Amino acid sequence: MSREELAARRFFIHTFGCQMNVHDSEQLASIMTEAGYERAPDVSQAGIILVNTCSIRAKVAQKIVSQLGRYRRWKERNPKVIMGVGGCLAQHWGREMLVKAPYVDLVFGTHAFHEAPRLIDAVRAGGGPVLDAAFREEIPSLGIHAAVTNGNGTTKHQALVTIMQGCDNFCAYCVVPYLRGRERSRPAAEIVREVETLVGQGIREVTLLGQNVNSYGRGLREETDFPRLLTMINRISGLERIRFTTSHPKDMTEGLIDCFGGLEKLCEHIHLPFQAGSDRVLARMRRGYTREDYLGRIAALRRRCPDIAISADVMVGFPGETEEDFQATLALMEEVRFDNLFSFMYSEREGTEAASFGDKVPEKERNRRLRILQELQDRHAWERNRALIGKEVEVLVDGTSRNDPRELTGRTRTNKIVNFAGPLRLRGEILALRISDAYLHSLRGELKPPEALLVHKSPEAVHVHKPPEAVLVHKPPEAIHVHKPLEAVHVHKPLEAINVHKPLEAVLGRK
Ligand code: SF4
Repeated sequence: MSREELAARRFFIHTFGCQMNVHDSEQLASIMTEAGYERAPDVSQAGIILVNTCSIRAKVAQKIVSQLGRYRRWKERNPKVIMGVGGCLAQHWGREMLVKAPYVDLVFGTHAFHEAPRLIDAVRAGGGPVLDAAFREEIPSLGIHAAVTNGNGTTKHQALVTIMQGCDNFCAYCVVPYLRGRERSRPAAEIVREVETLVGQGIREVTLLGQNVNSYGRGLREETDFPRLLTMINRISGLERIRFTTSHPKDMTEGLIDCFGGLEKLCEHIHLPFQAGSDRVLARMRRGYTREDYLGRIAALRRRCPDIAISADVMVGFPGETEEDFQATLALMEEVRFDNLFSFMYSEREGTEAASFGDKVPEKERNRRLRILQELQDRHAWERNRALIGKEVEVLVDGTSRNDPRELTGRTRTNKIVNFAGPLRLRGEILALRISDAYLHSLRGELKPPEALLVHKSPEAVHVHKPPEAVLVHKPPEAIHVHKPLEAVHVHKPLEAINVHKPLEAVLGRK
């Protein structure tokens, strides 16, 4: 095969945005692979460049357009390169995308991912750029399984599973319902089958995804809800950990709160966006809960699961936000002491209700408030992380650390990043580590002495691991020296060691 023919079969995907987008890109890669294409090792070797976009904030849209401009250079060097733009911004702008970036060959919306190979064929057939930004009743790509290997061919141990898509809430500042459409849940049996398949392929942790997973099940023919789905997934043999994102405080039921501490595979972490601490602002945002409601949910979660880690989204400078409102937000933070907070400045999105509000907060003031809020959060995160020093945590080893390839990295059940020294063969293992140091965004751990064995938690678990020489020992269940119960692992201040204050596109939509 000539170099040119090879390049024509190779695709490269650049993803902007939230975990939902990351998962959409993984599904897109599977769709392309199924259709006979293969992933290019890097963009320079790709004949098809696909950019999966996010439209949550105006700044992200600017970044995407700049990135498209950079990819244009590849196309100028090789006019046969196909440039496609998919996802939220493609949905939002539609035909306008072709005006803003006339060198783009293909624009496909959030509901058209499964059509990508056919649309690429249409581009190759000639006749000008191709556009598909239609909303569909059924979204076939929702059920597509993403590959369980990383780009470098290594096996993954964590997987994302979409359980629902879209949102019916129409918060005053948010474009998601306009771009992703109304809520749609996948049937529970289909989700369980997908998780079972993933577990069979080596996956040990799943994150259930949706714009508002708490309202899972609405509109399905079967009588189900999110706690019931979690209970079904918790029974899957071989699965070790379950996470979910994102939650909405107004749909945080007692039944769901009871799942924490009640379902042993459900990790002790929740992302529960609060957005503002002032009832007046919450009402204008159309969030559907009050400050007291939110604090009540947090108290109930901590009663049920004292070590639970709590992260959230918050926004400053929503139109009409006064200094008093802002102080109410800071006071709520002091009360809750979040493990991690994704903080953003309000940014106007065309077509939303808030875009028509006249009482905008000046940008300088929004910046000031954001700075104050982030300083407060840094203090809380620092305190909570420092409190972990000397404690024992359970970590699922992801692989080598991004900052230091000589080190390994993994996540606690409370979603904190822990870096530690150890052999690469521990990748994918669940280990006990002792925390030796703590930073703002991560922890440093040490493997526990060999006599401290940690057992995988699946019912049939017979693999006992000794760090660091990790010898696999097969023992009858009664002979297993079980790792200390989760409640005994003091990780109540975990900070999800992803960057605090990551931009809004880094979270699942906006809650
Ligand atoms: S912020 Fe979340 S809950 Fe509100 S409309 Fe957007 S996606 Fe829906």
